[in-house]
Formats: sequence, structure tokens, C-alpha cells
Amino acid sequence: MIDPVIIVGGGVIGLATGFELIRAGIPATILDRTRAGRGTSWLAAGMLAPDTEIGFEELELYDLNRESLRRWPAFAAAVEEASGRNVDYRDDGTLIVADDPDSTKRIRRLYEFQTEQGLDVDWLTGDEARDCEPFVGPRVSAAIWVASDHQVDNRLLLDALREAFLAEGGTLHENTTVDSVRPDEAAPVVVTTDGEEIRGREVVLAAGVWSRQIDGLAPVGPLPVRPVKGQMIQLQMKLPFDLQHVIRGPDAYLAPKSNGRLVIGATSEEMGFDTQVTAGGLYDLLEGAWEIVPGVYDLSVDDTWAGLRPASRDHAPIVGRAGAPGVIAATGHYRHGILLAPVTAQEVTKLVQTGETSRWIEPFSPARFSGPIPESSA
Ligand SMILES: Cc1cc2nc3c(=O)[nH]c(=O)nc-3n(C[C@H](O)[C@H](O)[C@H](O)COP(=O)(O)OP(=O)(O)OC[C@H]3O[C@@H](n4cnc5c(N)ncnc54)[C@H](O)[C@@H]3O)c2cc1C
Repeated sequence: MIDPVIIVGGGVIGLATGFELIRAGIPATILDRTRAGRGTSWLAAGMLAPDTEIGFEELELYDLNRESLRRWPAFAAAVEEASGRNVDYRDDGTLIVADDPDSTKRIRRLYEFQTEQGLDVDWLTGDEARDCEPFVGPRVSAAIWVASDHQVDNRLLLDALREAFLAEGGTLHENTTVDSVRPDEAAPVVVTTDGEEIRGREVVLAAGVWSRQIDGLAPVGPLPVRPVKGQMIQLQMKLPFDLQHVIRGPDAYLAPKSNGRLVIGATSEEMGFDTQVTAGGLYDLLEGAWEIVPGVYDLSVDDTWAGLRPASRDHAPIVGRAGAPGVIAATGHYRHGILLAPVTAQEVTKLVQTGETSRWIEPFSPARFSGPIPESSA
């Protein structure tokens, strides 16, 4: 029997990769130290927003983000079919709003950049924004309408992906923590904290923000991923309050889900592995949300949390041969891991199948970090 591909970590990246491998006829085993799907991916907002988040200096990443969004509808449909569950994929679009002269200037610059890049975006007055989304408040004086950006309910997705992976015949070991890998071109091995050794045809490291903790990656050393904390607050929408679109303001975004969850995020803090929810973090988010959608004031608070984004030194993902024989990296997805799940999973599957690194992931190879670490970004 052929050894399976061993995937370390069952977040959106590990589960999606396992699902795509199995669909391609390649056996896959996922190991997760807790329940699969309860890491950072569970704590995200589920926005699939390359056009909203286009960065002035990140066009290579934009191309990857855009390509992944292009693959999302078929990916969502495949997961839904295999699992029998709905993932609440929504293509309603996003409003980027401004509520004072400074934020108007900022979004105007973004709008000009987006149109220079050929994106299909529209400039709206405050009233036009309210026509589109009546709960946008009176302070909002301008907006960009981004029809092309979508969203998914990441929690529904994760449960569906786990189900789909199992339904397709994948093997899942939960409550199993990987301590290290033993690289080998033909038969790499992962070693669990219980001392169990599991041999694979390849090992895929998809442990998100914890990827750096996996030992044994000789000769390259651990993957350079660090945590960037994001606090979030979840409100429960109640009629007549209802939002149809993701709304992004200067200090907070609001992502409404079809089951009434309204996710408001997110802070961005360099605090190591700290996941404390702070009064200041929540205050900033609520104030930022209230300024653009005052109706949130009366909604009940369901939940609050802090998640850790897995960031690489250049904030782009780390996908490809890890530089240790038999080991592939699929991590460092930072703010875009939900968006990037289909392209990452499908291109890693191709890499396993063909041995070739595709043009999509080539710019994001771990090899870009193999030189000396610059002091400013260590
Ligand atoms: C507040 C916030 C909002 C976000 N919003 C969005 C968004 O709107 N859109 C978007 O695209 N992205 C968003 N992101 C980013 C996205 O959540 C991440 O990029 C993505 O979840 C990373 O997925 P992952 O599978 O790599 O990590 P994870 O989901 O963390 O999965 C890693 C898994 O590895 C397991 N693991 C760890 N160590 C070991 C070990 N030693 N052995 C075995 N298993 C191990 C963990 O238990 C976990 O299940 C957001 C992130 C945050 C924090």
C-alpha cells in the first residue's frame, strides 16, 4: 500500500489540502493536536476579499488572492456536495466606507489604485451607500462598492470540510500533537509527543501559527511564522436590523452571516501568543463599528475572542518545498488563509502529484527565507 501524505494541522489549510489530495486519489492523513478546525481558522471573519484588500506593494500576493477567489465557488460546491452541509458562500459584495475627510482621502487613493489596476469598483456618495445598505449611518459620506469580493461562514466551512475529508476516505487523528519531523526524500516521518512515529509519502506542515514549533527541519530550521493577534466581537443581528454586505470602515469591519452572526473585527497586535481579550480592544472595535453602522448599539453581544494570524516575515504565505527532504510547507497565510485555502490546497496537491512547483506558488516558496535574517524583520 502507498504511504499517505501526512498533514500536520487540521485548520482550513490542512483540511482543504487533505480534501484535495483525496479527491485526486492520493491517500492523506491529518494530525491535529485538538479537534480539527478549531485553531485560527475558527476565529476568522470569513471574508474573501482580494479587491478590497489589494495592497499598493503586494501585487504578486494580489494575483494569488484573486486566483483563489476565482476557484472558491467550485471549491465551496465540492465541499458542500461531499459533506452534505451548507457553507454559506455569499457573493453579495463589500462596501468600503469613509466617515471623515481623512478617511475619504484614504479610500479615494485606494479607489484610484483599484481602477488603475483594472478592478471593477464604483465610487458612491454617502446616500448611494445607504441605498445599497440602509443601516449605514449618517456620518458616512463616501464609499467604494466592490461587487467582486465575497465571503463564507468560516465555521460552517470548517465543520463541512472536516466532514467532507472523512466522507471521501481521509484519515484524521485528533488530539495528536506532532513534536518533530524526520526529513527523508522517500519516506519522511513525523514524531508525536507520545513518541509515535508515522511515515508518509510526503509531510505537509500546515500547523498555522504553531508551525515554527515543529522541530527537525534540517538543514533549514523552523518555518519563520509569528503570531499577530486579532480581537473580535460577535453580535447577534435581530430584525429589523439586518446587514446584507460586508462593510469596512476606517477602524472596524462588519461581516454579517446568514444565520444572524455579525462578526466585527479586528485589532492587529504584536503580542506573541497572548490571546487575552481586552476592554480597550473591544472598545475600539465597537466604537469603530458604531461610527459607520450606529444600529449595532442595540444588538446583543454573543461572544468575544482573540485569534492569532500566522504571519511570515514579508506577510505573504509560505507554500512549497520546505528545504528539508520530503517536507512541504503550507503556512504563513496571515490575514488571507480562508481566502487562500483553495489555491493552496490545489497547488500543494499538484506538487505532490507531479513534483513540480506551479507558477502560482513559486513566488511564495520557503526558499525566499533561507538567507540571513535581516535585523529589522527578525
Ligand atoms: C481575527 C482574525 C480574522 C481573520 N479574518 C480572515 C478573513 O476574513 N479572511 C481570511 O481569508 N482570513 C482571515 N484570517 C486569517 C485566517 O484565519 C488564517 O490565515 C487561517 O485561519 C490560517 O489557517 P491555518 O490552517 O494555517 O491555521 P489554523 O486554523 O490555526 O490551523 C492550524 C492547526 O494546526 C494544529 N496544530 C498546531 N500545532 C500542532 C502540532 N504540533 N501538532 C498537530 N497539530 C497542530 C492546530 O490545532 C490547528 O488546528 C483572520 C485571522 C484572524 C485572527
